[in-house]
Amino acid sequence: MLKKKEILFSKEEIDNAVENIARKVSEEYSGGELLIVGVLKGAFIFMSDLIRKVHGVDIIVDFVILRSYGSSTTSSGEVEVVKDLHGPVEGRDILVVEDIVDTGVTLKFFKDQLLRRGPKSVKICALLDKRARREVEIDVDYVGLLMDDGFVVGYGLDCDENYRNLPEIWVLEEEE
Ligand code: 5GP
Repeated sequence: MLKKKEILFSKEEIDNAVENIARKVSEEYSGGELLIVGVLKGAFIFMSDLIRKVHGVDIIVDFVILRSYGSSTTSSGEVEVVKDLHGPVEGRDILVVEDIVDTGVTLKFFKDQLLRRGPKSVKICALLDKRARREVEIDVDYVGLLMDDGFVVGYGLDCDENYRNLPEIWVLEEEE
């Protein structure tokens, strides 16, 4: 059983990170149209905060649910699309919004899938990046906060569906 250990990122740190990404996205896609694809469930709070901070871009939203096999705290390398996009991808600028990149397997799989459908561009944005744990090569174009190893919850991220509503990001630890 895992329990909350300590706050890793405060509300203010998260807010600044989201603001930074939003500024870059607003600059990059200024005057254009952007399809923002949220990876459920973990990215739902991050995405809702992010899109309200992006200005001067016409935004369309869509969502996918991806399942990577493994235990509740590690992924095994196999990914399945549980819920696909609702709308078309062809010719669109796409920004994939993910909560956290760990091994990179989930995002590599999904980006490759999107690229086969003829979009104009695909970029990736992640609130958290466990860069040292990367197992496959994947460019994360916009990163909010870098972190070391450790399992985190809060601000949309869960452990067995718990803790998503915490306003901060917490590290979990084994209960004695
Ligand atoms: P990857 O395919 O990059 O190894 O794993 C990405 C997915 O694993 C994330 O979308 C998330 O669902 C899950 N994940 C990886 N690390 C963490 C973590 O520290 N906390 C939570 N809640 N999920 C994580």
